[in-house]
Amino acid sequence: MKNLLLAALLFAVPACAQVRVADGFSTDWANLKMDSRELAPNLYLLHGSGGNTVASIGIDGALLVDPSFAEVAPKLKAALHEMGMAPVRYVIDTHYHSDHSGGNGAFAKDGAVVIAQENCRKRMTETLHSAFWGSTTPPSPAAELPTLTYDRRLTLEFNGEEVTLFHNQPSHTDGDTIVYFHKANVVHMGDIFVNNLFPYIDVGVGGKVDGYLPVIDEVLATIDDKTQVVPGHGPVATKQQLRAYREMIQTVRDRVAAGVASGKTLEEIMASHPTKEFDAQDATNRVDGDGFVAMVYQSLTGKRLDWHPVK
Ligand SMILES: [Zn+2]
Repeated sequence: MKNLLLAALLFAVPACAQVRVADGFSTDWANLKMDSRELAPNLYLLHGSGGNTVASIGIDGALLVDPSFAEVAPKLKAALHEMGMAPVRYVIDTHYHSDHSGGNGAFAKDGAVVIAQENCRKRMTETLHSAFWGSTTPPSPAAELPTLTYDRRLTLEFNGEEVTLFHNQPSHTDGDTIVYFHKANVVHMGDIFVNNLFPYIDVGVGGKVDGYLPVIDEVLATIDDKTQVVPGHGPVATKQQLRAYREMIQTVRDRVAAGVASGKTLEEIMASHPTKEFDAQDATNRVDGDGFVAMVYQSLTGKRLDWHPVK
């Protein structure tokens, strides 16, 4: 059941040849290939399927940001072993979605402490229904739940590095965490930032478009032009690319808000094509321009929560 969301991501039938499948998702678990690369000394990016994983590996052991799907965890462990991994002591979930947190249990049973924002843990104890995907996610087993939670900010000293977790306000979900590695100058954004994709706003759990702007602004004020910005999905980006993504969200949000203010229906707003200049780069059959517009509309008005992509 947890993979209904993934199924919706992967198997939505393309309406035309131009529709692209979101990169980085595969359910061919047996043949998954783990890619890894060094971001900075002691800090690595790993990816097999689902969300991007960042691993700090050093004298204190290992710390992971986003252990990906449960099915990916064995491959992740094998890759970490090959890299000379010490025991995984901490796992940080950027949010509750199973393509980011599904591997929690595999590392928790070996003794890792799983850390998340307090709303993230709360959501993982609930049965959640996504009207957008038409899917239901059951509560996570107790063995997969975060065991250490925080509200606004938490700092770890690990592997000679100051690691800051921060939560500003609801945006992608109501329990998002951003992780900043000060010395390495690397930030993991979770799905607040998806590179070359339209964001999925999880309005059903209190995600909201107006949260993205102050959250991203806080990150922009924290990082510099040399920071490596790791998105939840897609390739590592620069501060400038994060700023462009923020402007895309602001532009589409303002167009939808203007449509709402002038009394237009969701369909009329979609027909005005608020995402037009961004579709070539960002639209996939995961979230296309209409899907993003619908979520922005839902977030701004609290209406039409039953809208979902045509499958
Ligand atoms: Zn997500």
